[in-house]
Amino acid sequence: MQSNAFHKLLLLLPLAYQHTSNDAKDELHWNYETNGHNWEDICSSGVRQSPISLNVQKSLIVPLPRIVFGNYDIKLRGPLTLLNNGHTVHMDVPETTNGKKPFITGGLLKGRYVAEGLHFHWGSPDSRGSEHSINKQRFDVEMHIVHRNAKYKDINEAAKSKDGLAVIAVMLKIVKNPNIIFPGLNKVLGALPRVTKYKAKTTIPGGLSLGQMLGNVNPRDFFTYRGSLTTPVCQEAVTWNVFSQVLPVSYSSLSRFWKLRDSEGHRLVNNFRHVQQRNGRPVFYRAGKDLSGAYLGK
Ligand SMILES: [Zn+2]
Repeated sequence: MQSNAFHKLLLLLPLAYQHTSNDAKDELHWNYETNGHNWEDICSSGVRQSPISLNVQKSLIVPLPRIVFGNYDIKLRGPLTLLNNGHTVHMDVPETTNGKKPFITGGLLKGRYVAEGLHFHWGSPDSRGSEHSINKQRFDVEMHIVHRNAKYKDINEAAKSKDGLAVIAVMLKIVKNPNIIFPGLNKVLGALPRVTKYKAKTTIPGGLSLGQMLGNVNPRDFFTYRGSLTTPVCQEAVTWNVFSQVLPVSYSSLSRFWKLRDSEGHRLVNNFRHVQQRNGRPVFYRAGKDLSGAYLGK
């Protein structure tokens, strides 16, 4: 019996592989098993990859313009949909209730970048999951808000150009008794138990503005540099804007990420890419207040 079953399995294996390679034409198959160490064949091999480690001491501290947030304070048109896509939890950014899209400009950006989507990278009960590190520290969760340069028609077009995308990154950190709850973030994190399974979707009631997802970080205090997407195929199309302040969130909220599952039913944990070489790229740091008080490390 057993050997018969094994024989059958052997016969089925080539079919299984064929199936995978057929699928690959439509959709790239990859996972976080090695945190990207085995993505050589599917990722760009350029010299401006992301994430990198950020450090105030190694940054150019320049009087950059602040980032301007357009329509970030206006509520998004609901219902908002949260999706477990097997790699992360993703939310498309719809129009706001005034029929416009949230956008950013300023910093190193030329022109407007329209908000398209939001997702997260996280760790596990015993590891942190941020992609960038700040002053040698990594954090529990890193949230990305992806924006497309308005001069390109969609994300795919934008991802082909150096100036195609801009991402806002915000770090989240587990603290024992957070003395503040961020209503926007809280709504999204509260919906995580409903998207545990691969391809699970849930709706979040409207009444949420994109700005609420930023909590109370000082948006004038950030690192910015030119890099890449951190998921295959890692196109070098991203101007990164990483806030240096960190949002405190409770253990019970952030631990919900660790219960999610990927397309194979495995625990979807540690979905971050390992840190890439900086290769002499300039990293700019904009101090929120005065230069002397720069980064407070909180
Ligand atoms: Zn990301």
